[in-house]
Amino acid sequence: MPKKLAPRKYAGRSGAGLGPGHRRADALATLEREVGYVRKPHGGRLRVALAFPNTYFVGMSNLGLQTVYRLLNADDRVVCERVFLPGKQDLGDDRGRHDPLVTIESQTPVGDFDIFAFSVSFEWDYTNVLTMLRLAGLKARAADRHHRDPLIVIGGAVTFVNPEPLAVFADVIAAGEGEVLVPALVESWHRARSRDELLSLLAQERGFYIPSFYDVTYDGPGRVAAITPRAGTGAPRVVHKAAVRATDHVDPPSTCIFTPDTEFGARFLIEVVRGCANMCRFCWAGYNYLPVRPFDTGRILALAEAARPYATRVGLVSIALCDHPDIVPILEQLLAMGYGISPASLRMDDLTEPIVRLLRESGEKSITIAPETGSDRLRRVINKTVTNDDILTRTELIFSSGIENLKLYYMIGIPTEEDDDLVAIRDLTMAMRERMMAHAKVRGTVGRIVASVNPLVPKPGTTYQWMPMTDTATIDQKSKRLRHLVADIDNVYFNIKSERHSYYQGLLSLGDRRVSDVIERAEQNGGQWRAAVADVGLDADAYLYRNREADAFLPWQIIDGGMKESFFRSELEKSLRAEQTIQPRRVTA
Ligand code: SF4
Repeated sequence: MPKKLAPRKYAGRSGAGLGPGHRRADALATLEREVGYVRKPHGGRLRVALAFPNTYFVGMSNLGLQTVYRLLNADDRVVCERVFLPGKQDLGDDRGRHDPLVTIESQTPVGDFDIFAFSVSFEWDYTNVLTMLRLAGLKARAADRHHRDPLIVIGGAVTFVNPEPLAVFADVIAAGEGEVLVPALVESWHRARSRDELLSLLAQERGFYIPSFYDVTYDGPGRVAAITPRAGTGAPRVVHKAAVRATDHVDPPSTCIFTPDTEFGARFLIEVVRGCANMCRFCWAGYNYLPVRPFDTGRILALAEAARPYATRVGLVSIALCDHPDIVPILEQLLAMGYGISPASLRMDDLTEPIVRLLRESGEKSITIAPETGSDRLRRVINKTVTNDDILTRTELIFSSGIENLKLYYMIGIPTEEDDDLVAIRDLTMAMRERMMAHAKVRGTVGRIVASVNPLVPKPGTTYQWMPMTDTATIDQKSKRLRHLVADIDNVYFNIKSERHSYYQGLLSLGDRRVSDVIERAEQNGGQWRAAVADVGLDADAYLYRNREADAFLPWQIIDGGMKESFFRSELEKSLRAEQTIQPRRVTA
């Protein structure tokens, strides 16, 4: 029977203090509370230290990390062990100390591994990549490292978006889906007789970008003229993203190691369907995980059944959950297994009566939806097909089912947005509140509506990749206006994010290799981005507030995510005319 353990807080985890060897003690204490980790002898195997550049608490709820761990260890020629960013207290104590960063499974120093691989999901973790390299005793920049150091491979969701800000730190960027990348990496490792040969072999494989094989030429602040493969390297002009064609014969990514010491500790996470066919013009995930590919229903249910002793809830991790043709029977079966069900988020067009009812029956008290804006016109601009009438019908369905709380996502700074559109956010939310209150009266308990509002940050690989971000003064003014509009509405809470936060996230998302200097500086100064930009002397505004439509090349175009530039240009024109693009057939696999 599995152990039942209460979560605990991680500061210096072992409680062994921060003396020499404390990392080993921490790792051993961590293992004691886990189910499902893999321990293999190292001898004769390719040794991979797999890092999540954040704490254990955050990283162990990341399905990407768990999947790469499973895929690597599924190969008997490989031993893969995990490593995380130490907690704050440990980090504070670390500068100038020499207790090496060790893996959880065998407490081996990371510097002894063949490959040190990072799964990076968020721009804010870029500085943590450098911290972990430093703690492992490795130089941050690939050019400064020795050929006997571990090979640094950086992959994860952000490498799809734009690998350039991290390029100088990586020996290899893995762009795409782990199911294709992991076997190709392992095969190339076994074929290669030297580090140079390995890099050459990987450069020929789909999804592997070797930054040192390319020269970058610039054309002024924030502008790249070209990224050109060096003669003799055999590197391609652009690197095509690696993706599985169909997922019906692939095991769905799911939790393989259970621990109570993570954000979703009691939850079995599983990906049900990959991709979303709605093609909202701002959404990087929508464009880059096409086509929509459902995982095999039988495998989903078998994995869930096997995980049931370790988890009470199942977290369904998919951007378009209801694009799975069997979603209703899947929910019914999960419910029959005794699981509570938590979807990551739901598209409004997917909220049908059986789905809402099944979620309610599973104990869900809150649903998250993303109207994005309050006006139908602005929704046509971003290619969202639902209308306010649809949203209110779904809201009625949600509250009448007994679900008490609603979480909403809105954006401001959308192209062509006017004051009326901000008023429309208030009006739509008020109309949703009316429905909530009507059902609360009957039930006798009142829930709440929590709305998060973020400025739109144009993302690489989307229709808006050429557009400047709305300037700080305008966003500040819009935020102020919206705060005024929604002040003091009972049971409705608006969380309007600051422009500053989006500004530096935008810089990391839209940057080129010159932004790596800022990342390095921010890692040294404790994450003070404004000071880091000033110290380096980078013209950050040139990355954020400039229209890029006339640029010959965009830094992220070194990765071909599968969408044509001409398509994005036509989508941009249609967006500015508030014209929708009809979605292609939803399920193509
Ligand atoms: S519906 Fe959601 S996941 Fe799909 S493209 Fe739109 S924003 Fe992205």
